[in-house]
Amino acid sequence: MSEQTSHEFRAETRKVLNILTHSLYSNREIFLRELISNASDALDKLRFLQSRAQGEAVRDPDLPLEIAITSDKVQNCLTIADTGVGMTREEMIENLGTIAHSGSEAFLKAYAEKGEDGSTKDASNIIGRFGIGFYSVFMVADKVEVTSRSATGDGPACRWTSDGSGTFTIEEAPDQDTIKRGTTVRAFIKDEDKEFLEKYRLEGIIRTHSSFIPFPIMVDGERVNTTPALWREPKFSIKKEQYDEFYKFLTYDSKAPLDVIHLSVDVPVQFNALLFIPDITKDYFGAYREHWGLDLYARRVLIQRENKELIPDYLAFLKGVVDTEDLPLNISRETLQENLVLRKISQTISKQALSHLEKMAKDDPEKYAAFWKLHGKVFKLGYSDFVNRDRITPLLRFNSSALDDADALTSLDDYIARARESQKEIWYVAAPSREAAKVNPHSEVFRRKGLEVLYLYEPVDEFALETLGKYKDFTFKAVEHADGAVLDSFADTDETPKAAPLSNDDMNAFDKLLETIRKVLGEQIKDARVSHRLADSPACLVSPDDAVTSSMERLMRVMQKDDSIPQKIFEINRDHPLLRTMLKISKADPDDPQLSDMIQNLFDTTLLLDGYVKDPHELASRATKLLEQASAWYADVKKL
Ligand code: ADP
Ligand code: MG
Repeated sequence: MSEQTSHEFRAETRKVLNILTHSLYSNREIFLRELISNASDALDKLRFLQSRAQGEAVRDPDLPLEIAITSDKVQNCLTIADTGVGMTREEMIENLGTIAHSGSEAFLKAYAEKGEDGSTKDASNIIGRFGIGFYSVFMVADKVEVTSRSATGDGPACRWTSDGSGTFTIEEAPDQDTIKRGTTVRAFIKDEDKEFLEKYRLEGIIRTHSSFIPFPIMVDGERVNTTPALWREPKFSIKKEQYDEFYKFLTYDSKAPLDVIHLSVDVPVQFNALLFIPDITKDYFGAYREHWGLDLYARRVLIQRENKELIPDYLAFLKGVVDTEDLPLNISRETLQENLVLRKISQTISKQALSHLEKMAKDDPEKYAAFWKLHGKVFKLGYSDFVNRDRITPLLRFNSSALDDADALTSLDDYIARARESQKEIWYVAAPSREAAKVNPHSEVFRRKGLEVLYLYEPVDEFALETLGKYKDFTFKAVEHADGAVLDSFADTDETPKAAPLSNDDMNAFDKLLETIRKVLGEQIKDARVSHRLADSPACLVSPDDAVTSSMERLMRVMQKDDSIPQKIFEINRDHPLLRTMLKISKADPDDPQLSDMIQNLFDTTLLLDGYVKDPHELASRATKLLEQASAWYADVKKL
C-alpha cells in the first residue's frame, strides 16, 4: 500500500495563492462558484464518457449525476461532493498541486493589468478562466481535504490535504469500501468566515453565481437550481434579465452584454446557438489569445469549451454556446477539427452574425459605433474572409478628415456620398493618431482642395484596404501615391493667399539651390525635387517606389529587423517662406556654411516626421546652434 507523501506547491502556484488569500476580502464568496463549477466540469466529463456509443465502462453507473453540499457547524466544515469523473492519485498531484504554467502566467498578467480607471482589477472576475479556481477555497478555509475516486482508474480512492501555505500531502483514503465514484471537497472554514456554513447564505451564492449549472445542486438535501438550458428555450419566452444572467454566468463578466444573438437553425444542419456581444474589450492578441471560441454541446452534453472551429477568428469577440443534434455523441474531442458539421455551423453563424451587425448598423448607428469601438480591432480582420467580404466591407468604420473629432466614425458608403463629382478614389493616410495624420505633409494638398482622407490608425487597416483594392467604383489609394494630374483637376477650396510666383531668374536660382541640397545631403537621399503637393510644410519625403506606403515600409523594416534608413526623394516646397529665405542666401553665396546647416536640419526634421531618427544628438546640437544664432539676430534687430 502506498504511504502518505508530502509535496510542495510550485512557485507560480504560491504567487497565485498569495493574491487569492490576501487581496480578495470582499469577494470571498466566489470560492463556492469555483468548487461548484469544478464539480460540474467533472460531471460533464462523466456524461461525455457515458454517452460514447460503446460506453466506456464507468464505475458506479447508477449513481445520479449531482452536486451535494452540506454544512457541519460542529466541525466548521463545508462539504461539496460530486459524482463526476473523479481523480486518481496521480491526477490529484498533477491537477491540485500545480497550476498549469501558462494558466498561472496568464492570470498573473491579467491581474497586473490596470482597469480603465487605473485601479487594480478585481481578480474574482478572472479567476475561473485560468485554471486556478480550486485555490480560491483557501480564502475561507484553513484546511482542505479532497477525497476522490476515479470513474475509470482502478487504483484506490485517495485523500489530498493542505492548509494552503506551501505543501500538501496525499495518502490512501480510509474506509475505501464506502467511497463511490467522484470527488468530495471538505473545507474547514476559518472562524471569521462562518457565514459560509449558513444554509441561506449558501443558497444565495448559488442563485447568484451558479443557477445555470446543468446538474442538480442540493444544499442539505434540497435542490437549489432549477434553470433550464436557456439556448433550447423559444426566444419569445426569454426575458432580457435571463439572457444577462446567463451571460454573466458564462463569462464571469460583471457587465451585461451589448447584444444577444439567439439562433435556432434547421438547415443545412440543426443547431441552437446563444451568442453574446460583450460590452467589454479583451485583448485577443495577448492575454486572451487562447480564450475565445464557443462552448460546443451535442444534445446537451458538453463536448468542448471554447471550441475554435465554430466561429472565424474575426468573430472571436462572440461568447456563447452551440448545441447540435447533428453531431454523433461518440465523437472524440480530437476529431472535431475539420469536422464538416462544425464547418457548416460556423458558416451559418458567420452569416447570421453579419446580418445582425448589418441591422444594428442600419437601425441603431450609435450602438454599432459602440460595437466598433469595443470589437472593431478584431472584426476588421474579416477583410480576409473572401466569401463574406462584400458584406464585411460596408461594415468597416474609419476616422477621417471630414469628421469633427478622433472619436467620430464614417463608413465607406458615407465617404462615397460625400465624394466630389469626378472623384474615383478613396484616399487614405496611415498615421498613429489624428494629430499625426493631420500634419502628414502628403495630406496637405487634400486639405487645400477640400478632399476627404480616411485616417488609418492601425497597420491592419492599410493591409485591409490594399487587399480589398476597390469598393464599389472607387479605388483605395494612399495620399502619398495620389496622381498629381488627378489632384490638379480639383479646384482649391482653401482661400489662403499663396506666395507670389517666382521670376524666371529666381526659377533658375532655385535649380541651383536644388543642386546644393543634393550635394549637402549626398547619399542620404535618392534625389531632391520641387514638390507640388505641399501647402504648409517646407519639405517631405517620398518613396521612389510607388508600391508601398511609408508606413508599410516602416512596418516591414521592423519585421525584418532592418534599422537602416531608406533613401527617399526629398521634395521641397518652393513657396514656403523658409525656402524663399534659403533661396536668397543661396543666390548670394551657394557655399554659405549656414545654408548647409539649414539644409541638413530641414532634412532631419522631415525624416523625423517620416518616422525615422538618425542621430538625435547631432540633430539637437545643430538645432541648438541655429537657435542660438537666430536669437542673437533677433536681439540685434530688436535692439535689445
Ligand atoms: P480549472 O477548473 O480551470 O481547470 P481549477 O483550479 O478549478 O482549474 O481545477 C484544477 C483541476 O483540478 C481541474 O482542471 C480538474 O482536473 C481538477 N479538479 C478540480 N476539482 C475537481 C472535481 N471536483 N472533480 C474532478 N477533478 C477536479
Ligand atoms: Mg475550475
